[in-house]
Amino acid sequence: MYKHLFGPVPSRRLGMSLGIDLVPHKVCSLNCIYCECGATTKLTNERKEYVLFDEIVDELKDFFSKNEMPDYITFSGAGEPTLNIHIGKIIDNIKTNYKAPVAVLTNGSLLNDSSVRKELVKADLILPSLDAATNSAFKKIDRPSNHLKIEDYIQGLIEFRKEFKGIIWLEVMILPGYNDDLENLLGLKEAILKINPDKVQLNTLDRPGVIENIRAATRLELQNIIDLWNIENVEIIASSAIRKHNASFRKDTENAILETISRRPCTLEDLAKMLGMHINEINKYLDVLDQDGKIETYRQERGIFYQLKK
Ligand code: SF4
Repeated sequence: MYKHLFGPVPSRRLGMSLGIDLVPHKVCSLNCIYCECGATTKLTNERKEYVLFDEIVDELKDFFSKNEMPDYITFSGAGEPTLNIHIGKIIDNIKTNYKAPVAVLTNGSLLNDSSVRKELVKADLILPSLDAATNSAFKKIDRPSNHLKIEDYIQGLIEFRKEFKGIIWLEVMILPGYNDDLENLLGLKEAILKINPDKVQLNTLDRPGVIENIRAATRLELQNIIDLWNIENVEIIASSAIRKHNASFRKDTENAILETISRRPCTLEDLAKMLGMHINEINKYLDVLDQDGKIETYRQERGIFYQLKK
């Protein structure tokens, strides 16, 4: 069990992905209402060494002395990886020592900082998010930490595209009632055309978010957005149940989760602690169990609880 590495996790977009978490749980520059990892505990834009560079390097060394190369090494986790001041150095270390493909899952909010953009250019694949085109929707959905304006956020993505030679898959989370009005949809189209990502991936809620009364967009609603935009390379991210067919989906992990919540309902964090797994790893399995109709959720003060479906 490593402190900062997790998996390899079967990922719907990245195959077998070895995760690296560069910040403590929910240290993030946004506090998105749809976050599956719960509310942000430290909302900040401050970049620093949240996780020690040497610890990451040691864990990588140990991992590669015992394991095969995953499809990707992915900076992800329950927080924003670009907040760690050493992300560029760590990418360099991976590219030099392991020649592994590197992906970065980022909310993109720090890309208007040229030093962050410079640190990410050696990665192979960047998956930033963009959920709104108006400041009011941005504030309602992503709840940024400071006075970050959506125009600057979008400009950061445009600048990054110019400087980055690798692949960009831009994720847009659609939340009906929040960002599916014409002003946001047309503004998003305009932004996408300017950013020019290799792919746009439309996503929606898989499971309950941080606040109540948000719902997932239906397949038809997502398709209508694709038709309205009429731009190339937009896809709906495939249903998470597909992951079941991934060879790395582990039945014993699925059973351990079911057994644990059959004894008493648990939050995501409870499950991660009890099973000694990273929250992102547990999340992947909960997606599949939810799709299969095996679990259900309810909300309490301490968060969202998972239990067996009655
Ligand atoms: S940016 Fe990611 S980790 Fe941060 S609150 Fe939003 S969804 Fe959660």
